[in-house]
Amino acid sequence: MSKIYINPGHGGSDSGAVGVGGRQEKDDALRYASAVADKLKAAGHTVELERNADYLINVKDIAKNANLWGADLFIAFHRNAGGGAGAECLIVTGASATSREMAQAVQSALVGVGFRDRGVKVQDRNTYVLSHTTMPATTIECGFIDNAGDNALFDSKFNEIVQGITAAILSIAGGVVPNTATPPSPSANVPELTRVLKRTSPMMTGDDVRQLQERLKAHLADPGKIDGEFGDKTRDAVIAFQQARINEGRDVGCRYNGNKPDGKCGELTWAILWEPAPGE
Ligand SMILES: [Zn+2]
Repeated sequence: MSKIYINPGHGGSDSGAVGVGGRQEKDDALRYASAVADKLKAAGHTVELERNADYLINVKDIAKNANLWGADLFIAFHRNAGGGAGAECLIVTGASATSREMAQAVQSALVGVGFRDRGVKVQDRNTYVLSHTTMPATTIECGFIDNAGDNALFDSKFNEIVQGITAAILSIAGGVVPNTATPPSPSANVPELTRVLKRTSPMMTGDDVRQLQERLKAHLADPGKIDGEFGDKTRDAVIAFQQARINEGRDVGCRYNGNKPDGKCGELTWAILWEPAPGE
């Protein structure tokens, strides 16, 4: 089994690039890096996730940490900016054949999920961690954060992106991707949603609101009294439910809202609510 060093780009006071709707690179980087780290661990590798929360580590320390730890592979997770579109993987001049092979495997995976192919690039500026680590290394630039289309792809294909990058790394490190992808919701069992359910004045009422409250409760998001009235507690429960799903990389239909919960139950949130809840 290999020792794999995962470096989510930026963090803390360093937001990285800021994109559509104030979306910050450091958040996206952490999100997909930690999801890949989890899968690599599940495949049996020893994984060091450089940061698991929002703080900054100096790039010099990152390179030093990876070298001292004796990592076999090093992968940095970023998102691009500057007006382009598509994915690319970076390696430095003089990178090993394994670095190139790993970069190419990741690049192919990202193109496979729909990103424009910007190729594997040899770049020696802003690549301190690549030039100062001693093991095969690459930086992933997973689409442009200032491109709405790339962001939509990043959000809607998140699970496939994570699965693809993991498989690419495993093609170098060995092992198979554990099949932990969330199954699609059984649409046959989802009652039709005829309106977006949300907090209004006067309050929305009805059987659909009651069903919403029951499903929220089943998913451990407490809507208060199951009374078929969409009040503040129901809205807060929708927000809690959406946030939990967003944290899992699910698309709850809040992309326009910077992928932050909006407390409104539209088609996507509704469909996920009808997936089996804990204990069902
Ligand atoms: Zn970056």
